[in-house]
Amino acid sequence: MGKIIDGKALSQKIFEDIKKEHDKIKEKVGRSAGLAVIIVGENAASQVYVRNKIRACEKVGFYSETIRLPEDITQEELLCKIRKLNENKKIDGILVQLPLPKHIDELKVINEIASSKDVDGFHTENIGKMMIGDKTGFLPCTPYGIMQMFEEYGIELSGKDAVIVGRSNIVGKPLALLLIQSGATVQVCNSKTKNLSEKLQKADIVVAAVGVPKLIKGRDIKENAVVIDVGINRVDGKLCGDVDFDEIFEKASFITPVPGENL
Ligand code: NAP
Repeated sequence: MGKIIDGKALSQKIFEDIKKEHDKIKEKVGRSAGLAVIIVGENAASQVYVRNKIRACEKVGFYSETIRLPEDITQEELLCKIRKLNENKKIDGILVQLPLPKHIDELKVINEIASSKDVDGFHTENIGKMMIGDKTGFLPCTPYGIMQMFEEYGIELSGKDAVIVGRSNIVGKPLALLLIQSGATVQVCNSKTKNLSEKLQKADIVVAAVGVPKLIKGRDIKENAVVIDVGINRVDGKLCGDVDFDEIFEKASFITPVPGENL
């Protein structure tokens, strides 16, 4: 029977650790760490994500600023805001909430952020560091969070066969790099992948980052596999993941519920 990976409890522990570490640093340097979050336009999901980031800052005692910009802002105006934040001594981290409006080149915007303040880890320099295992850069948060879960639950990765479903720049691809560095053998699947179920059935570790409700069923998973469900889907007003939790729970050794425990 599957053991639930309780991401909520782990995040609570991480908050406490960060708060303690931050309190010490604050005393030493005489100011709080500062985060600036830029949001462009009125995307409803983005509003929720930004609100959660600001709440997280409050929880650990960081200073934070939210910069709300209109949907029709020009790319140059946005780049100019970022340059100012790069120079701002109160700001240590800059997050630009994605997606951006279509007329703005996302990569150009991300790469304008000073790589030392790119706490999302999306800047080309930080991605390069992740690629070669240079630990001085920032890692993208979702893959990093998944790696923390493996560590917390003592899940060995070396020598394991992992299948990641989804090849996005924010989840699938960076997670593949982190798993490779941990000694796993990794396959990354996408919407064109043939015989997905066959591949999944051989996997010791399955990560679903797709955005298709309950795509992965009990028959796709081998006994005692570890199943990480990154998907967040809304069906009939309820949240569900990319894996069919009820079918897989009995077979998996570990599984992440969506929504998470305590929600
Ligand atoms: P994305 O950019 O939309 O990428 C989805 C990936 O899934 C693509 O690579 C796509 O293939 C692949 N795919 C689509 N249908 C498929 C199918 N039937 N079989 C196999 N692969 C398929 O998504 P994302 O940003 O990575 O997000 C994925 C999910 O995770 C979403 O539900 C999102 O809300 C959620 N999410 C959760 C967190 C979290 O913290 N829990 C963070 C980020 C995202 P192609 O490349 O061929 O199109």
